[in-house]
Amino acid sequence: MALQVDHFIDGALASGSSGRDGPVHDPSIGSISARVAFASESEVDTAVRAAQRALPGWMETPPLQRARVLFRYKALLETHADELSRLITSEHGKVLSDARGELARGSEVVEFACGIAHLLKGEFSDSAGHGIDSWSLRQPVGVCAGITPFNFPAMVPLWMFPISIACGNAFVLKPSEKAPSAPLRLAELLLEAGAPPGILNVVQGDRVAVDALLTHREVAAVSFVGSTPVAEHVYRTASAHGKRVQALGGAKNHLVVMPDADTQQAAHALMGAAYGSAGERCMAISAAIAVGDAADRLVAELQTQLAALVVGPGTDPGVHMGPLVTREHCERVRNYIDIGVQEGARLIVDGRKLQVPARGFFLGASLFDHVTAGMRIYKEEIFGPVLIVVRVATFEQALELVSAHEYGNGAAIFTRDGATARRFSHFAQAGMIGVNIPIPVPMAYHSFGGWKRSLFGPLHVHGPDGVRFYTRLKTVTARWPDGAAAADFNLPTLR
Ligand code: NAD
Repeated sequence: MALQVDHFIDGALASGSSGRDGPVHDPSIGSISARVAFASESEVDTAVRAAQRALPGWMETPPLQRARVLFRYKALLETHADELSRLITSEHGKVLSDARGELARGSEVVEFACGIAHLLKGEFSDSAGHGIDSWSLRQPVGVCAGITPFNFPAMVPLWMFPISIACGNAFVLKPSEKAPSAPLRLAELLLEAGAPPGILNVVQGDRVAVDALLTHREVAAVSFVGSTPVAEHVYRTASAHGKRVQALGGAKNHLVVMPDADTQQAAHALMGAAYGSAGERCMAISAAIAVGDAADRLVAELQTQLAALVVGPGTDPGVHMGPLVTREHCERVRNYIDIGVQEGARLIVDGRKLQVPARGFFLGASLFDHVTAGMRIYKEEIFGPVLIVVRVATFEQALELVSAHEYGNGAAIFTRDGATARRFSHFAQAGMIGVNIPIPVPMAYHSFGGWKRSLFGPLHVHGPDGVRFYTRLKTVTARWPDGAAAADFNLPTLR
């Protein structure tokens, strides 16, 4: 009998009662490894109510004591790193070392949240008026919800709930139904670290659970990470229901290779950034923009390096790239390769033909050259191991491509020239910029987010923006008068 992946509500596992569930696959062998419960509206309500009950006590727990739970949590994440990484690989397919990396980057957000007492310190104005002091403070918003994608089953939830909880909120997480086990384990470990039951709940499921969260009266804030159409739906629906929302969407990240760049360095960077995690990263580089005579050298070097790329199960040592997450997704990516060929792009390396394990959702790495801005393979997010090369004559043309694209998550440049790098950093219309860094994912103490259709809402995730998102600002103005003052019918001004 297939394993069941349950909800986690009020500090305990809760098996699904909706009568609906879905398959979870092991992508490296292509078979169903478990079934995951799909929450109904009423199960979501039970989770939100549990969060609401836990909230008053937690809000009043001093930030330093909340931080101590997170210190213990960080230690537990380390002791369980191997177990968590294996769970990620077993449902996502990425290689184990990459799963460990995702967990490490997620744990850094916990480290950041351990400093919450400092982060919540407000601002104080002595003598804002005669005998009047004024100060601003940040208070929790209430019950927060997080809806997360399949491609970072641990890191993306960790972008959200540690900060939300550190700020004094309670949280309901709805992970991807494609990779639900690692997030569930993350919740169990937070309880073990000392968080009260109900402070972090997990409801598994599909859009029924998502829509129940977006419209629930008692949910105050929604964080979403996933594809752009769903991000837009989440942003519109949750905003219309009076919630604050941050909804991160899809991407088409460009890496500009200038003629003065070291070709080998740029190609190495592109290999990791385009094909790592089988291209299933929101910060993957999917478009290389080769300027001037950089193109021929770059394509030749990529071709050489691709010949040495090892595709196989993520648990096998020496493997660079694992399978895609599901059969449907694998077919979707394969279809984009067909489209690119029909559109007239030159397919230099054809991932459809590469030798890959017979079982599982494997697809080799592909490389297209002579792609143009009008092609679908340039415009759309493929989210697979397909790198396209667009050739342009000048830096200005490269910058224009980056800035005109509908997505604006990350963008990078490889060059030896400081002035060019500076111009790129300043003018590129994207939220995260890399200079000789292909995947410029901000550290936990900065914030992560894109521009344009890669993010809906004003605030990025984690870092300082995370604290802003999960708290409400309050400003107190106070005086302690000696006697009764006469009524004043004018707006108070400083005289
Ligand atoms: P997805 O949008 O299909 O799913 C994300 C979440 O939304 C899941 O929990 C899913 O259950 C839910 N969902 C799916 N369809 C829904 C619907 N119609 N209504 C309500 N909820 C729905 O995304 P995915 O395939 O899991 O993840 C890949 C996508 O996520 C890519 O587009 C990638 O670029 C994006 N992503 C973005 C970032 C970022 O930081 N910007 C990070 C990781 C992934």
